[in-house]
Amino acid sequence: MEKVRVRYAPSPTGLLHIGNARSALFNYVYARHFGGDFIVRIEDTDVLRNVEGGEASQLNYLSWLGLVWDESPDKGGNYGPYRQLERLDLYKKYAEELLDKGLAYKDFREDSEQYAIRFKVPANVTYAFDDIVRGTLKFESKDVEDWIIMKDNGIPTYNFAVVIDDHFMEISHVLRGEEHITNTPKQLMVYDAFGWEAPQFGHMTIIVNENKKKLSKRDKNVIQFISEYEAMGYLPEAMFNFISLLGWSPTENEEILDQETIIKQFDPKRLSKAPAMFDKDKLAYINSRYIKMLSTDELALKSRVFLEKANIEIPSDEWLKLLVEIFKDRMSYIGQIVELYQAFFHNAFELNDEAYQFIVENKSVSLLETFKKLLETSDFTPEEIEILIKQAGKETETKGKPLFMGLRIATTGDMHGPSLPVSLALLGKDIVISRLNQTITRLRGDL
Ligand code: GLU
Repeated sequence: MEKVRVRYAPSPTGLLHIGNARSALFNYVYARHFGGDFIVRIEDTDVLRNVEGGEASQLNYLSWLGLVWDESPDKGGNYGPYRQLERLDLYKKYAEELLDKGLAYKDFREDSEQYAIRFKVPANVTYAFDDIVRGTLKFESKDVEDWIIMKDNGIPTYNFAVVIDDHFMEISHVLRGEEHITNTPKQLMVYDAFGWEAPQFGHMTIIVNENKKKLSKRDKNVIQFISEYEAMGYLPEAMFNFISLLGWSPTENEEILDQETIIKQFDPKRLSKAPAMFDKDKLAYINSRYIKMLSTDELALKSRVFLEKANIEIPSDEWLKLLVEIFKDRMSYIGQIVELYQAFFHNAFELNDEAYQFIVENKSVSLLETFKKLLETSDFTPEEIEILIKQAGKETETKGKPLFMGLRIATTGDMHGPSLPVSLALLGKDIVISRLNQTITRLRGDL
């Protein structure tokens, strides 16, 4: 079997979009599954649309996602150069060959020596190919007009350059977006004209939003650039996992799969023909699952960046670890630690009616006073606070809900929440004592 060589061929016209990331990811997975090569080629012939830093940012975010390539402009390789603008002589040579063979012709601008080169579309030819995703697709040459392969400035068009490059880079399979289906007959004509064998094409379905509309870059309801997810604190492993499910499904029902498993299980037959739905909730869920798999140290390290950016003071490493431990289960992305912190520390201390009623009914004053006294001389570690909760219970003969919920209400205002000893340790002695004082004063007034 010929060697599998696939490529991701972005135009450096902007940030890495989820749709492009998907094309890149499936080519990468394809290469790794079949033991082939994965190449990154920069298609920069649309000069006006190129943006400064576009190439670097594409490569940077591919690498963030966990993709590793074998050949590229930055890495080099035996099939370079890997930027189309550095290959202009090659396109020129082959465009001239088509002119010589009478398979293309010069199209002069009015009153000018300058000309574009047009491909002469043969009459009555059927172009058919066996699409990896969709099966056999057919196009009639009569539906295609003679098209420009070289513009009058010597720059090739995409449909011409892509063939020259895929041929000379020995690309065996091309997985790309569905929008390229109608380009494929043009590309097949060029392969035919040179007598070259075309790669096998596979066109992946569109990605749609929750209203089943094709995802458009302007759709503000869906975050679509990989950089935005990175900035929010999505984990690259979770993004890789989520993107792999956009248009492909594993054999088992389990959808939390690491890169190695995806590569192993990958089967091009399971690429879907139906549009892939971008399900935000699923992404948040997958990411939360990956967050839960992080160790406390890893999560603390990642959370620190977001807290510091929000100018939140981190008193100690221990404090930070406690903070991330109590919120680990509630985070869909790491940046959320800031909101969770703010809700926890800065919401005014308020007892809602139901909560207050609970401590009124349980006549909790002596419990609260005893607990307060014990806390005053405590080191305020979660372990010690846990012991003092029990001790306050013993001294006032309070148990179960009246003990644990009573203390929680009096110190946090809430009837439920994360671990009480950890919450109190995080709040710190001053805040906890002051809240206990407020609650005790109010209760005394009402009882
Ligand atoms: N530069 C093209 C794009 O970004 C590549 C298409 C292809 O894979 O042939 O859509």
